Formats: sequence, structure tokens, C-alpha cells
Amino acid sequence: MKILVVGSVAYDTVETPEGRHESQLGGSASYFSIAASHFTEVGMVGVVGRDFQDQDLRMYEGHGIDISGLKIVDGKTFRWSGDYLQDINTAVTHETQLNVFADFEPSLTEHHAAAPFLFLANIEPSLQLRVLDAMSERPQLVACDTMNLWIDIARPQLSELISKVDILTINEGEARQFTDEQHLPTAASALLLSGPSTVVIKRGEYGAALFSENFNFAAPAYPLAKVVDPTGAGDSFAGGFMGYIAATGDTTEEGLRRGAIVGSTMASFAVEAFGLDRIRNLTPADIEERFKAFVELTRFEPISGNNGLPLR
Ligand code: AMP
Repeated sequence: MKILVVGSVAYDTVETPEGRHESQLGGSASYFSIAASHFTEVGMVGVVGRDFQDQDLRMYEGHGIDISGLKIVDGKTFRWSGDYLQDINTAVTHETQLNVFADFEPSLTEHHAAAPFLFLANIEPSLQLRVLDAMSERPQLVACDTMNLWIDIARPQLSELISKVDILTINEGEARQFTDEQHLPTAASALLLSGPSTVVIKRGEYGAALFSENFNFAAPAYPLAKVVDPTGAGDSFAGGFMGYIAATGDTTEEGLRRGAIVGSTMASFAVEAFGLDRIRNLTPADIEERFKAFVELTRFEPISGNNGLPLR
């Protein structure tokens, strides 16, 4: 198994200008795994309650996701509800019920603990830290995500986590909140000083900005005619990004740049339908076609002499 992910597996209630869906399958680990499973082998660590639907377990298995690390225990599955009615790029949380995640103790099999790539998807930072500590050796690449709730209530644990990862993915509002810096490049510099060698700042319809010790890169978002449900866009970005890097083993600057475009490709699909409906039904041809559209979207060719600039 190439990538191990720990994160939420959830039933979400979501309202967007396109409608309201009750108890749809979601969670950070779900979006990440499905997106990454189009490129490489993924193992999921998490917990669900007895209310978890059998057909949802089968869906992960249908994507070749190793769910032997997904425990089913007495109690209710994690639930989140929110809306995007004011701003399509920003979720307003109504309720978060940790339920079975409240006292989840992750235990990794030997196989899981040896995964070369680790994604600590959004969940309580102390849980993310416990999974990192349980790895048999430091994975080749460790990335993590988080959200405003944990900045508010678990900042010390989150700071410790950020100091231990290679890549941090974070929303622009959360980057500002965490660093207390309004200007994004300044916020990114502060985050780079706190541990990771790469920071990916997610900006909704404006795409994602990669800040690294040696280079910066801007990945646009695909100009879709309609965003149906932005839930999971960030996790799907991370799934495409990490899935590409794990599948190719390419952690160079060029690999990270391409990975960011693969991430944007998967995020663009995620928001086209409610929940996981679009990213779980993709064909390789769909992904290739959208990736090519991104190449075209970002293509420009300077012509010779002064890079083609008519400088006087
Ligand atoms: P995003 O990619 O940020 O849109 O992530 C959306 C997913 O995050 C939803 O499916 C929620 O179930 C999940 N989520 C929301 N709040 C939390 C939380 N506090 N901890 C873990 N997962 C969460």
C-alpha cells in the first residue's frame, strides 16, 4: 500500500444554492481516498458507528481502498452539517458531532505502519499526531490538512503537528487565522518557518497556491459553469496531489507542480455534484481529458527576444 490516510469518515448534511442533502457520505478521509484511488493504492484508518451503511463500505472496496483499518464500533458515525449559502467558497458549520471519533484509539497493522506516504486528513490534531507516531519509520512524505475548529480549540497540538510534516494543506482563511497575517505570501512564509517545506494554500474558485522553500507555483481552479457542492474540494485536491506523487514517486519541484494540477483536476470534479457522486464515478478518460484542459488553461508561450515582451 502506497498511501495511508487517517481522517473523518462522515455522514454530512449540506446545503448549497443548488439544494440540501441530508446524511450524505463524506468525511475528509472519504474524499481523499476516492480521489487518490484513481492513481494508487490507499489504506484508510478511521472509525464509524453501527449506523454505517454496508453499501458505503462496499463502495470503498469497489475502488480498491484497503478498509481493514476502518473500525466499526458501538455508537454513531461522525456527523457534520454546514452550508455555503453566503459564500460558495466557505463552509459555515452548523454542527460537528465527533461521536465515535471522540474516543478513537488508532492502531496500525504492520503493513499500514510501513506506508511510504502518509496523509493526515482533517481530524482532531492529537489523533493525527498519534497516527504519525505509530508509523514504524518516518514515511518518505507526510502531509496534513486541518480546519478553523482545531485552530480555535487545539492550537498547541496543531502547532506540534505542523512542525512535523513535510506538506501542509490549508484554506486561505485558515492560513490567515493561524498566522495572524492577512497577506497570503507573508502567511505562507510564517507557515514555512513553522515546519513544512511546502505549504499549499487552497483558495476555492481561485485555485491553489504552492509555497515552497525554493519555488512558488499557482494552480488555477477549473472555470466550471456551476459549482453544485464544494464539500470535499480540499480533500479531493489532496487526494489527487498525493495520489500522483505516490504513484510516480516524484517529489521533485516538477512533480509537485504536476501534482498540484492533478489535485486541481480532482477538486474540479468533486464540486460538480453533491458528496462523492462525481469523483466516485470517474473514468480514466474523464480524468485525462480534464487534466489536458488544465494544461491548455495554463499554457502560454513567450516568443524569442526579451521573452516576447515589446520592451522599449
Ligand atoms: P473540505 O475538503 O474541507 O470541504 O472537507 C469536507 C469534509 O470535512 C466533510 O465531508 C466533513 O465531514 C469533514 N469535516 C467537517 N468538519 C470536520 C472536523 N471538525 N473534523 C474532521 N472532519 C470534518
